[in-house]
This record gives sequence, structure tokens and C-alpha cells, in this order.
Amino acid sequence: MRGRDCRTPDPARSVTASAFTALFAVALCASIGVRLWLARRQIAHVAAHRETVPAAFAARIGISAHRKAADYTVAKQRLSMLHVLVDALLLLAMTLGGGLAAIVAWTEGIGVSPLWRDVLLFAAAGVIYGAVNLPFSWWHTFRIEERFGFNRMTLGLWLGDLAKGIAIAVVLGLPLLVLVLWLMRVAGTLWWLWAWGAWMAFQLLILVLYPTLIAPLFNKFTPMGENPARARVEDLLARCGFRSAGLYVMDGSKRSGHGNAYFTGFGKAKRIVFFDTLLERLAPEEIEAVLAHELGHFKLKHVAKRIAWSAALSLAVLALLAFLAREPWFYAGLGIPQPLLAVAMDRPGVALELFLLAFPVFTFVLEPLSAQYSRRHEFEADAFATRHASPAALTLALVKLYEDNAATLTPDPLHSAFYDSHPPAAIRIAHIEALAGGAPPMAMAA
Ligand SMILES: [Zn+2]
Repeated sequence: MRGRDCRTPDPARSVTASAFTALFAVALCASIGVRLWLARRQIAHVAAHRETVPAAFAARIGISAHRKAADYTVAKQRLSMLHVLVDALLLLAMTLGGGLAAIVAWTEGIGVSPLWRDVLLFAAAGVIYGAVNLPFSWWHTFRIEERFGFNRMTLGLWLGDLAKGIAIAVVLGLPLLVLVLWLMRVAGTLWWLWAWGAWMAFQLLILVLYPTLIAPLFNKFTPMGENPARARVEDLLARCGFRSAGLYVMDGSKRSGHGNAYFTGFGKAKRIVFFDTLLERLAPEEIEAVLAHELGHFKLKHVAKRIAWSAALSLAVLALLAFLAREPWFYAGLGIPQPLLAVAMDRPGVALELFLLAFPVFTFVLEPLSAQYSRRHEFEADAFATRHASPAALTLALVKLYEDNAATLTPDPLHSAFYDSHPPAAIRIAHIEALAGGAPPMAMAA
């Protein structure tokens, strides 16, 4: 019945569709405007502070490293501005410009089952997005990273990574897509609850597969064996109840000179990973301090908390999609023409793809909240580290990390508040020093 309704012009409905188009256009313009404005602020702020190392770092970071960080930040920011514009044009072309409608019409004529037509729709959109994003990725690696001396990738390795990425998307993403599209067709009005269950199961699966199977496809992980910090490390791990078998060193130097450390996974698959590039730069107490920070993420259950948030949000998002997928104005408002409306509304893949394309335009205002949440976890992990290792060593390790990554010490405060998953250097180190000055290091509570 709904299909026949759609074909008859309905003035009230087209008004809703036009209103939705207008809302989408306004949200898109606002998001582009804010992103470009923040990028320009960041460039101006970093450039204005290029010639002076902030007082707190003056003893530890030289002027040439500081200038390099400024130039590197500006170069990346300029590329990101172009990326914002190209992404916006692509989104307009795919929606209001009729790109997705053309793919829907094309796949409609292919002699496979409706579910596989939707899979083809996703594949076509994926190829288009991949093709547009690829030059940015290439430019970032072989122009910017190369120019600042970070890149260690050959074109062959870069292409190999690309092929592996596509293979992983097909092996892991395709079954999930087929399952969700199938649920949308057969599971009735509550399909979104089933899809949510599938999505959460998939997320947990990835959390186990990423450290154990996926990341090892790209890098070599070796248990952290003998090093000068071994005794302190073992002691700290034992106090925090973390299996020492979960501590790895990754050959990050295979791809770049950037250094880092991270905590990921859960259960038996949980891991703390040091990049070899970072490890070789740190003194034993600094390794212990960075490890204590990562153990903070583990002990304070940051991964589990993020999963819980993601579970609640994705449930709300899927419920919204279930509502929108039944509304003709959702399709018509995003560039599906009247003659295709009935066909599109009969294909769950169209609703899903339109939603995935357009939704971020409306949620970009929420990005600062997510960044803020992440920064809170970083402060908590730093506080944990100051209780279980030397705060001074943590500060020294962070300064090395900023210097080696050419991370700016003088970000624009608004840009940082909007995007940064980690607190800005000066604030973070002031926080650690304040904690260190406050109370003597406590003994580890069991
Ligand atoms: Zn952290």
C-alpha cells in the first residue's frame, strides 16, 4: 500500500521532503563552516606561536623541533581543509545530486536477488568513496609524512596495506552487512533490535580479533622481552593484575617514525602495545610510567565504558533509522526522485546507505562531547600513572612523545576542545605536575 501512496504526488509530503532537504543543506553548510573555521583558527594559532617554545617546555624542546611541529601541524591542517570540501561535494553529489539514485536505478536492473542488489549498492558507494579518499591518503603519506621525515613506507607497502584493508572489509564487513540487510527485510518492525544485537556482537568480535588477528596482518608483535626496564615492568604488571604475556612491542618503525603506546582488547585478548620507535627512546622509569598510564586505562575499565556508551548510542541510532526508513520524505529529501521512491522504500539498503551518508552531518555537533569523554579518560589514566609510577618520568616520556611526533604544543584551544582525544600538552603536563605536587605516591591498592 505504501508503495502506491508514494507514486501519487502528495503536496503535504513533498513539503516535508523539501523541509528535510533544507534542514540537511543547512546542517551540511554549518558543519563545513565550523570545520573550516576551526582549521583556520588552528593554523593561525600555531603559526602565531611558531617562534617561541612555551615556557613550560623551553628547557626540554628546542626551537627547531618546535618550528617543525608548527609546520607539520599546518601542513596536515591544510590537507584536512581540502578534504572537508571534497567530502562535502561528494556527499552532495551522492544525495541531492542524484548519485545514489543512479546507483539504485542501475542495481535495480541487475538480475540478482533484492538483497544482493543492496550489497552491490554498498559496494558501488564504497568504491566511489574509496577512490575519492585514496589520493588524500597517498598525499598524507608520501607528501606530508615524507616531507617531515616520518614516512618509512614504500608504495608497495602502502598498496599492500590497501589490499589487506579491502580484504578485511570483505571478510568481516560483508557478512555483517548481509546479516543486517536480511534482518531489515525479514525481522519485522523490530528489526532494529535484532540488528543492534548483531552490531554489538560484531563490535565485541572485533575487539577480540583486532589485537589477535587483524593488527598482526599489518605489523609484527613480539612479547616485550629483556630490556633494562624488565624488573620494574614485571613488578608493576603484577601489582595491577595484568598478565605479562599481554605486553607487546610492535614494529611501528616499519611504516613511520611516529611513536606511541596503546591498550586494547578485553579478556584474554587484552594487550598493551609499545611501538618500537617509542620504546627505544625511553629510559626505564619512563617506560614504567607510560605502562602505568596504559594500565590505568585497563584498571579503570575505559574500554568497557566506551562499549557501554556505544551500545546505548547505537540502539538510539538504529531506532531512529527504523523510523526514518518508513518515511517517504527521508528518501525524497535526500535526492531519491519520485519515480524511484517506491523501489527505494522497498530496499532496506537504500535507507541504510542514505542514513550512513547523511547522519554524520547532523551529529558533528556531538564530536566535542566524544572528544571530551576521551580526554577525561586520559586525565584519569594519567592520575593512575602518577600514583603507580614516577610523575616526573611520565612528563619526560610525554615530552619525548610530543617531540618525536611533531605534535604541536600550542594548539588553538577551541580546535583542541572540538577534536582532540588527548588533552593539549601544556594542560596535560600541568595536571600531572599538580597531582605529583599534591600527595606522596600511594601504595598500590590490591
Ligand atoms: Zn591514554
